[in-house]
Formats: sequence, structure tokens, C-alpha cells
Amino acid sequence: MEATGIKNTKDNLQAVWNKRPLIISGPCSAETEEQVLETATRLAKTGKVDMVRAGIWKPRTRPGSFEGIGTKGLPWLQQAKKLTGLPITVEVATGKQVEDALHFGVDVLWIGARTTVNPFSVQEVADALRGVDVPVLIKNPINPDLELWTGAVERVAKAGIRQIGLIHRGFSSYGNTEYRNAPMWHLAIEMKLRNPDMMMINDPSHICGRRDILADVAQKAIDLDYDGLIIESHIDPDKAWSDAKQQITPERLAEMLDGIKWRHETTTAKEFITALEKLREQINHIDDELMQLLGQRMKIADKIGTYKKDNNITILQTNRWNTILERAFVKGEKLGLSKDFVTKYYDAVHMESINHQNKIMNS
Ligand code: PEP
Ligand code: MN
Repeated sequence: MEATGIKNTKDNLQAVWNKRPLIISGPCSAETEEQVLETATRLAKTGKVDMVRAGIWKPRTRPGSFEGIGTKGLPWLQQAKKLTGLPITVEVATGKQVEDALHFGVDVLWIGARTTVNPFSVQEVADALRGVDVPVLIKNPINPDLELWTGAVERVAKAGIRQIGLIHRGFSSYGNTEYRNAPMWHLAIEMKLRNPDMMMINDPSHICGRRDILADVAQKAIDLDYDGLIIESHIDPDKAWSDAKQQITPERLAEMLDGIKWRHETTTAKEFITALEKLREQINHIDDELMQLLGQRMKIADKIGTYKKDNNITILQTNRWNTILERAFVKGEKLGLSKDFVTKYYDAVHMESINHQNKIMNS
């Protein structure tokens, strides 16, 4: 196999990398030359896709499923790039795969969820990247562990890669849920806060694992100010060799993208800004008051702690806490607060209260 040496100019790639929203699509797996070329040309024809993705090596959770076409698929991608002018991205999990992908002019590499979990594998990929100037996207690890995700980013950055982006593809959780991988949005948001200058794109395909809720997840990501989407597409989704249930045709993808309400983080419209400033001001006031009240609440907890200490009574009184929670659920519901939020809020307040009382008991 000969690499033809086709490469998008660096400027073009840079422009794509900086485009917002950045839309990446293509099959879960490259299967045949025809499938790759037809998918890419149909995607290009929509005019809505910036980069083509395809899995060449597929890390499967269980053996026996399609494990990828391997290196022989890389020239197909190169051809797809030549036909469409769109840059190409593939998943890499070993040093050899990095070398092969770069040899065939792959423009952007991504590290998959099953690789991000393993520091040895990430380090091997990072070592192969040393001295190479290629953008790298890093998916969240399968398990909800921000340190592993951060560690992968650090390893790749230490190898000298300057352009790193993040892909949120959801987290594996035991048992059947609505999603194939629970989004746990708060973790991705926390990761975004830790890396404010890094692009964060959302992967509705692997979060949903099915077609019917892709659009909802994509919309939610855009509402949360994600920088783009990576969505799997296939010319004949039901017959895909991997992830058939979640893939959609390029044309369906275009419809879906048309249906999304694109939002901007900021606007220059004056009235909007003034209105927003006023509302934010109100929120700041309320937040200040809440803090004051919480401080007062803890002072009362301290007093109770002193009484409990003097009378030799345990800190934790389950019945009392259950009564408080029951009251809170009823009140919360009337005020439009979800049970989930009320539970989390009360748990946090309770813990803080226990810590305060603990300090007093032991002083
Ligand atoms: C993929 O993108 O095809 C893939 C294998 O995804 P993930 O690493 O998120 O499971
Ligand atoms: Mn897939």
C-alpha cells in the first residue's frame, strides 16, 4: 500500500479545527471502499459536515464483533478526502496505529473511551505523537473518572501536541438505562471548566446507542455551549457492521442538524445584554442571600451540636432527617424543584451540618 501523500493544507485544517460548531460525521467503522467513499461524498453533498470520521481499528468490549478493517482501510479514507476535500479523523489506540494513520495523511486523531481508561495505552499513543504536529481529540474514559480524562490530556500535551480537543461520549453504567452511556452532563461541564480553552464536542451516537433520541441529546449539548458534534452516519445504517442501531444516513443527519436550534454564548444585541445583566444581578443577590442563610443555618446546627454534646446524644438522627426530607420534597415539588435536586441539595446541607456538629462534639 502506497500513501499518495495527499494532505489538506495546514491552513485549511486550522480553519476547520477552529470552526464553530464543528460537525464531524462518518461511519462507526470503515467497512468497504464503496461504503467509505459513498458516505463521505453524501456527507459532503449536505454541505453541513466539516470532517469525516471512520473507525479503522475497533476496540470492542467483547471479542467476536467486527474489530475493524485495519490498515487497508486507510487509503479509502485518503481517497474520500481527495474526493470531498474534507479532513479525516480516525481512532488510534497504539503507537503503530498512530504511525499508520499519519502515514496515510489522517488529519486528526482521536483517542477512544476504551483507551483513555488505560494510562499505559495513552502513554504509548503519546510517545508515538512526540515531534508530530497533529490535532488530537480525547474521548472521556468509559468510567466516570475525570482524573483519567485529565491524565490522558496531560500525557498527550506533554508529548508536545498543542491542539487538543475533548469528546464527551457518556459513561458506562451498570443496568439498563435510557442511554447506552449515561451522559452525566455535570462531569463534562466540570471538565470544560477545568479546560476553558479546549474545545468540547459531544458524541450523541455513543451516548444514545439508538437513533430516536440523538436529536434531543445533540440539542442539549448545543444548549450547553458545546463546540460541536460527532455523529455516526452510514449509507445503510441497519446493515452497518458495528453500532447499527445508532447510525443514520447522511441525509437524515442533515435534517437533524437543520432541526437544531443553534445558540450562541454571547450576542451584541444591546437590549438582550441589558436584560440579561439585570437578571444576573438578581441572581447574584439571591445567591448572596442563600449564602447568608446557609451560614445562619450552620450556626444553629452548631448550637444543636453543643446541646447534643452536653446531653450525650448522637449526631445522626435518622428519623429527624427523614422528616426534613419528606417536607422538602413536598415543598420542592410545589416550587418546581426536582426531587433529584432537592435530594442532592439536602444531602450537601446535611453533610455540612454533620461536619459542623462533629467538630463541636470533638472540641
Ligand atoms: C467510536 O467512536 O466508534 C467508538 C468506538 O467510540 P467510544 O470510544 O466512544 O466507545
Ligand atoms: Mn461506534
